[in-house]
Order: sequence, then structure tokens, then C-alpha cells
Amino acid sequence: MKTKALGLMVFLLLFGSQGWTQEKAQDRRKFLDPKTPVSDDPRRTVVKPGPRGPEGTVVLRNGRIFDGTGAPAREGTLVIERNKVVKILLPSSNEWPKDAHVVDVSGKTVLPGLIDLHTHLTYPLNQEDIGVAMNDADATLRAVEKLRYFIESGITSVRDVGSKGDVTFRLKVWVAENRIAGPRVFPAGAFITGEGGHSTENTPDEIIGLMGATRLASGPDDWRQAVREQFHKGADVIKLGSHFSAEEVKAAVTEAHELGLKVTVDAETFYIQRAVEAGADTIEHPLPRSEETIQLMAKKGVAADPTLIPYQIIFEEWGGYFGSTSRRFTFSKEANLEMLKRLRKAGIKCGVGTDLILHWYRYMPGPYIRELKNFVEAGWSVPEALVAATKTNAEILDMDDRLGTLQPGKLADVLVVDGRPDENLDDLAKVDLVIRDGYEVVEGGHLAVPRHTAEKPWKSASAPAEMKSAVQH
Ligand SMILES: [Zn+2]
Repeated sequence: MKTKALGLMVFLLLFGSQGWTQEKAQDRRKFLDPKTPVSDDPRRTVVKPGPRGPEGTVVLRNGRIFDGTGAPAREGTLVIERNKVVKILLPSSNEWPKDAHVVDVSGKTVLPGLIDLHTHLTYPLNQEDIGVAMNDADATLRAVEKLRYFIESGITSVRDVGSKGDVTFRLKVWVAENRIAGPRVFPAGAFITGEGGHSTENTPDEIIGLMGATRLASGPDDWRQAVREQFHKGADVIKLGSHFSAEEVKAAVTEAHELGLKVTVDAETFYIQRAVEAGADTIEHPLPRSEETIQLMAKKGVAADPTLIPYQIIFEEWGGYFGSTSRRFTFSKEANLEMLKRLRKAGIKCGVGTDLILHWYRYMPGPYIRELKNFVEAGWSVPEALVAATKTNAEILDMDDRLGTLQPGKLADVLVVDGRPDENLDDLAKVDLVIRDGYEVVEGGHLAVPRHTAEKPWKSASAPAEMKSAVQH
């Protein structure tokens, strides 16, 4: 009897009513044993044990280490084994295996790989060219091209918040297997919105369907179903867009959290209030909202991905923000900067995303650097802006236990720049080396594509007879 009571107590302690709730995406992790390996994404799928990343040790010797934790840069040597950071040594130390690949980075700054929280890898370059936009092959090739621009800009992770069909899900796998060069891809799949909502502007439903980056949903059950569809495909995050009813956004957010995924919402005015009340994790863009909404974001710990840069490009290239049938408000460059200042003042966690639609990725790394300068203009120090781009972005991604800082045990996503970006953000353009998951993907500022390793053919002696004859003919 006593044993039973004790057993019940232990059970309640471990899995008491609190343990069973699933209000936040991360609640799912309570059921993961820290010793069992899981996938390096927010899904945390259980995977087979075994080594990951390239064989061997890479040593970045005598650099300025800006580790992303908020500590000032210091002299040191970073040691990477396979796909993990294993230690940071004092400059005087040379404790690494004899066969390590040693790179002298003296005078250069070593920092965590940058993260971009807002991409659309498959979006077309030209809004008018619907034919190309609908073509799966073109969508894939565009995305591959964009990945190159991003990785060569020092970005080692992108959170894609709306792309066509299966493209980003497959790119995530191909990058993870190091079969194509690029940042890690954390896909949302399709952008979920209501009929006539954002991302459907001036586009008939049939075309939206064919473009495949938007999932129109109607009613709470369908919003839930739309979330499940993205989860089924492999989404790492769920992206919702206004407009939606309170019931719809609540259903979608609850479903995503129960599935262990965070939700980010692209909305404005009272829709932001609705999304925050529903439990959304992040709000995209600097769009108008009330002070009450900002305070509620702060109270509930809702993060922001302010993305001032796409609007700056729009204001400068188009002369203003026009032509949206779903968004009925006016705003300006100044209003956006003011919004970022208000978010900071309220103590809201702000991350860095670029939302480079159309051909704008070709401006990289300019827009990313300029977004960081926007942060500085709104009150961040230069090192704080770099922490937002790395550590804070990893937190928003739900990946802060693996990415965002250079610390032993973290995944080896590392950027080396020939300068001091923690003093001068423009130095971020001087990308020298980029390591993603232990692989040296960018060397000397451009993609390092090693010659393929020829696999050994089957040994003719052991090959079955029918195979031998197939080779002979
Ligand atoms: Zn966007």
C-alpha cells in the first residue's frame, strides 16, 4: 500500500497535471530523454545514434572570438570536431589532434553563423511572371540560387515562412546531407491565411492554388487542418497571416502547439491583438498596432521579427506602400523605426529577418547589414545587434540549445569575417569562411565545392553474374 502511494506520488511529480499540458511548443520536450539523439530541428524527431558531420577536427586558430552570448570579443582558438564546437582555447594553447585541419584566423573575427528569420526561397523574381512562378523546377532552382547568396553572406540558417509545395522541405534535407551548399532550412511550408488575406492580393484563388505557397483556410476546423498539413510535410514552424477570426487563429495556434511547433503571424492592427491573445509566439513585420497590444506582447513573452528592410526597399524603389487589397492602413519608414523603438522599450525580444522577395536577395549582404543598422538606430549597440542576429534568432527558432552561440556542445555553424563586425557592421560583408554543421561551405569568400568523391564500384568478384553482364554490355 505504502509503495503504491509512493509510486503515485512519483508519477504525479513527473507527469502531474502540469506535465500533461501542451500550451507551448517546447512543452513537447518534457517527454524527451536527453540521452536519446533527436533531429537538429524544432521537431526533435528521435534519430539513430551515431556520428554526424564531416570526419576530423577543424581548428580556427588565434582569432577574435565573438561568441554571441553578449560577452565582448576575446582572443582565442575555436576547435570543431565533426559537427560540434568542442572547445575554445586560450591563444597560447595548442591542445588539438595532430591531424587537425588548422586555419590561421589571426586578425579576423569568429562569430556564430547569422540567422535570417524571414525568407521566401521559392518566390518569383517578377510578380508578373505567373508562368515561371508556377513552375516547380524554376521554384526549386530559384531557391537553390538564393541559398548560395545567403550562405556566402554568412547566414547559416534561414527560417522560410512561406514557399511553394515541397521545395523547402526537400532543400532542408539536401542541405542537411551536405548535397547542396546553403544555410540550414527551417521551413513553414505554405502560408496559411483567409480568403482575400495577405499573400492573396490581386490573385485569383486558382492561381494561388497553383503557386502553392499559400493555403487558404476557412473556419476553425479548416485552420487546424491547414496546420496539420504543414506538420505532415515536415514544417518546423507554422506561419499564419491576417485575416482570421479569433476562433480561427486560436484553433491554428492550439493545434500547432499541440504538435510541438511554434507559430509566427504576419498581421496588423487588431489582428495582432487577436494573434497574441491566441498564444502566437512571434509577430512578423513592423506593422501598426496599439500600445495595449505591445504591452500584451511583452507580458506574454511574444517575440517580434520586425523586418524593417523590405519596407525600406519598397519605400525607396516604389515610392510608397501601395496596392494591397488585404492591408488597409498607411505607414512610413519613420513609423516603422518608431515601432521598433517601442518594441525595444517594452522589452520585447526582437529577432532579425529580411523578407527579401522578388530579386532583392541579389542585394545581399547589404539588406541584412542594413537591418542590423536599423536595430542600432532604434537603440541597440552594435554587439547587441549581432546577438539579436545569432542568439536571439536561435531562441525565436526554438533552437537555442544548439545554435546561436559559440559554446562547447553547440552545432558548428561558424562565420569568420576579415574585420571587426562587433565594432563596424559593414565588416560583416567581408566574409572569409563559413562553416555549417562542421562543413566548410564557404572559403575565401565564395562557395567551396569539393570535387565529388568517386564511390568504389562493386567488386567484380563478388558482383552477381547478372550485374557483371550488365556492365559488360
Ligand atoms: Zn514574408
